[in-house]
Amino acid sequence: MKLKDSPVTQHNVEGRSFYLKRDDLLHSHFNGNKARKFAALLDQHNPNISRLIGWGSAQANSLTSLAALARIKGWQLTYYVDHKPAWLDEKPMGNYRMALELGANIVSLSDQVDNLEKCHPSDFIQRQHGDDDSCLIVPEGGRFQLAEVGVQTLAREILAWARFEKNPNLKVALPSGTGTTALYLAKALHSEGIEVLTCPCVGGRDYLVKQFQELNEFDVHPTILQRDAKHHFGKLYQEDYAIWRLLYEQTDIEFDLLYDPLMWRCLLPWLAANPDATVLYVHQGGLLGNETMLPRYERKFGARDNSILSW
Ligand SMILES: *Cc1c(COP(=O)(O)O)cnc(C)c1O
Repeated sequence: MKLKDSPVTQHNVEGRSFYLKRDDLLHSHFNGNKARKFAALLDQHNPNISRLIGWGSAQANSLTSLAALARIKGWQLTYYVDHKPAWLDEKPMGNYRMALELGANIVSLSDQVDNLEKCHPSDFIQRQHGDDDSCLIVPEGGRFQLAEVGVQTLAREILAWARFEKNPNLKVALPSGTGTTALYLAKALHSEGIEVLTCPCVGGRDYLVKQFQELNEFDVHPTILQRDAKHHFGKLYQEDYAIWRLLYEQTDIEFDLLYDPLMWRCLLPWLAANPDATVLYVHQGGLLGNETMLPRYERKFGARDNSILSW
């Protein structure tokens, strides 16, 4: 199965040209940076494994990716969430819907333990599955060192493409959740003189640097762009919606609504301040999440919002 060599397309936004690495097109369900981070699991020959164990949010893109990976490998997926919202069970949507369709077994931790506050999912999972050789436990969001293998493949593709780019001032840009993808990209591209720009979508700069250090990386980090105002992950911001729609109208590309808007809100001012740079933006997939995010935005701000230019 060939889950690499995604195309690069060229677009304009606000009069500025940029390139887009289309990891959203890697595979219908196993795409984006999760496909890169889990690529080592896909390629590994592991005859003892019959079940993947994951945890995280019921809406996470990694839920669909793990379910698709399990399906491709002929494994089961057991995925733990803190709570299963009742409305989601009644009307499954987005990543939750797709994971169920792909056969995932989604388990609510609040049904398993009495006091959720006192029990970290990773401890529970370790107790429950840690001694079982047929289970492979994947940390939340794919924040593990094994992710480096697949991200290195992405870096090699970027380098192969960059040979044809005449501007030596090339930057690679992508938003961060755990920061795993941006970190390993920066590490792989550093020796080639390519800087990686990112922004923290979860927590702030300090949180992100701590994530890098927990992966034992202290030397090369991506450059962190950040806006002054605090931004809460998963909350709806009119400016995020406005820039997402502006991008959609100007590029015909659907970006993700959780991470990409904040990165673009950092990147457009950065581009204005750096007129000589050429940017390759990495599209990290995750568009199934928009199935729940977009109706939320439309309910809150309307489908036809005239303040579109106020990002
Ligand atoms: C998971 C995800 C991210 C964050 O990736 P990290 O490697 O955790 O920083 C960004 N964008 C999309 C669309 C994602 O699914």
